[in-house]
Amino acid sequence: ANQATQRESYLVIGGCGFLGRHIVEALLNRGEQAVAVFDLVQRHHDKNVQFFTGDLCEAADLAKAIKGSRATTIFHTASPMHGANNPKLCWRVNVDGTKAVIAAAQEHGVKTLVYTSSAGVTYTGGNCIDVDERLPVVDATNAYDTYNLTKAEAEKLVLAANGQGGLKTVALRPSGIFGPGDRQNFEGLANVIRRGQTKWQIGYNDNLWDWTYVGNVVKAHLLAADKLVTEAGPKPREELCDYALPTIS
Ligand code: NAD
Repeated sequence: ANQATQRESYLVIGGCGFLGRHIVEALLNRGEQAVAVFDLVQRHHDKNVQFFTGDLCEAADLAKAIKGSRATTIFHTASPMHGANNPKLCWRVNVDGTKAVIAAAQEHGVKTLVYTSSAGVTYTGGNCIDVDERLPVVDATNAYDTYNLTKAEAEKLVLAANGQGGLKTVALRPSGIFGPGDRQNFEGLANVIRRGQTKWQIGYNDNLWDWTYVGNVVKAHLLAADKLVTEAGPKPREELCDYALPTIS
């Protein structure tokens, strides 16, 4: 922990999940003294971490965790799993729940909110060739599915809250995350091998898909939070995006 971050108190929403747990461990490893977790269930026990159980859609549960942890920085990593295929739950947790997180953060004086979005917020179901950050975010007319649509809606809410009510916000868009503790991606690959389905090939085997190691996703979250904590104040979005994008060859 450096001087600036040592004054921070961290609350990891979804901190018992795959990514959230790695964020907690990384904060502890760099010497942060004030780390707390908010999740539906408690799956871990650390003597120096405060655990709050509750539903992020419930304002009272959120208030208890934010006040109890005196959080100044929130990492919001909670979401239903993509594979759960539950549109109603996606709207409830990703959209209504993220609204509740933003409102509670503003009400209780949180300064920084880092939201785990998804690369799926730009995905319409077709090939993505030579794309970059300028790709538009999906809406109800072209989203691939409800999970991606609700992640997109949540991301918009988080970014619109930047600079509102004393809160600075950022959203990150990981692609598929792999690493120790993953409960969804590699299980699918392992099942294909278990079922002996590896002798078939669909297409020419030239499709690409992005994967990111969980440690790198954690690093991006910590860097994003640290940048917001040490910056003088929120900048307008245009200013943050005002750099020359490299040419793609
Ligand atoms: P995960 O399911 O392992 O962890 C999510 C955690 O959130 C769980 O512990 C769950 O109990 C908690 N949670 C869910 N609903 C909640 C609620 N209503 N209130 C409180 N806690 C709740 O998922 P993960 O793979 O660690 O994903 C973390 C984030 O990263 C998610 O926002 C996901 O959309 C995003 N993401 C994941 C991947 C991936 O490949 N795993 C890729 C891109 C984006």
